[in-house]
Parts: sequence; C-alpha cells; structure tokens
Amino acid sequence: MSSLEYTFTDGTSLAVGTMFCIGRNYANHARELGNEVPESPIVFLKPPTAYVANDGVVEIPSISNNMHHEVELVVVIGKDCRNVNIDEVESCIAGYAVGIDFTLRDVQNSAKQKGEPWATAKGFYASAPISAVVPASTYTGIPDFDLQLEVNGVVKQQGSTTHMERSVEELVVYLSSIFGLQKGDCIFTGTPEGVGKVERGDMVSCTLRNVVELSVNIR
Ligand code: ZN
Repeated sequence: MSSLEYTFTDGTSLAVGTMFCIGRNYANHARELGNEVPESPIVFLKPPTAYVANDGVVEIPSISNNMHHEVELVVVIGKDCRNVNIDEVESCIAGYAVGIDFTLRDVQNSAKQKGEPWATAKGFYASAPISAVVPASTYTGIPDFDLQLEVNGVVKQQGSTTHMERSVEELVVYLSSIFGLQKGDCIFTGTPEGVGKVERGDMVSCTLRNVVELSVNIR
C-alpha cells in the first residue's frame, strides 16, 4: 500500500476514513443475486486498510474461492457533518471517484445463511480500490455518471447512476443521520448488474466514463 490517502485530480490529497457501502442500490443487481430492493438502505463498512490506489494489487484472500468485482460510484466526504438536510449535501462532498467493492461471495453467502455480519466478506485488506478523485467543484450540482468495468479488456458491467434506487443526496442524508460523517469518509453507492468472479492474474479496469479510470491487478 503506497499510503492511505486519496489523490485528487487537482493534485491535492486527503486521508482515507471510514468507508460506508450500500447494498442492493440497483434493482437489476439485487435481482441477479435473488434479492429484493430493501425498504431502508443496507449499510456495511470497510476499514481504511481496505483502500488501494490506482495501479495497485488486490490479493484474493486464502479464505475464499469466489471473489467478485462490483464497480461503484464513490462519493468522498469533504467535511464533518451530522443530520444534514438535502440542501446541504452538496457542500459536504469533496469529490467523486470510481471504486471496486471486492466481495468474497462464498464467505458472504455463508455469513448470510448463518445470520452473521459481512465484515470479513467485504472489509478485507485492499478490498476497496479507488481511482483519483474528481473535485466536486468541477460540477454544478450533483452529477450523474456512467460506470463501466472490464476484466482483461472484456466489458462485464455497465450502468448509470441514474438507475440508483437511492440518490447520492438521500444516502448522505441517511448516513449522516445514523452515523455522522467525517472528512475523508467515503460512500460506495452500490453496484449495477454484471458482478462476477475474478482470478489471479486478471487485470480489472473500470471508469466513470469520460471522467476517470482505475486499474488493479489480481494476485
Ligand atoms: Zn457493493
């Protein structure tokens, strides 16, 4: 790991905090795993040690034989905030990136069956690659993005944040009310359909299309 800091496209950096991840935020992905869209957001956490920068390495942990890619819009929080109103959300956001929520699907399925937490399946070392962060000041308002992920050059996932069940605004309002958010925290906003297994030796690349790219090697 080079360092636990996001790099912004304007050259600035910011220490990585807690990663809040949202499950089943795209209906088509919820359905592909046999799930319904939940009535309130499904939230799980990754620690800062899950962070890995562009061109990094992600090792498949020995406890799993089925690590999946999930490409997601990542929202980086720019200031400490609690109980924010929908009108205040934009002022809480430092920027936008593309990330991969690597998931040990076999470990997660076992945890689901036993009613146990997902922390091991989701929060392991280097499970959260994140691209360079585009400053929020680049945009007026909170924009929508197109997402794409390729494994060894073959497109596996395509989506648009216009299809999220809960918007960035709603997620920031909800998370800030339940947990509070701190400068350097980030939100993985959920994955569109097309998740699948990666193998050692694979190159996984993804984009917020026309904005920023991220590549990692699987070992
Ligand atoms: Zn995810």
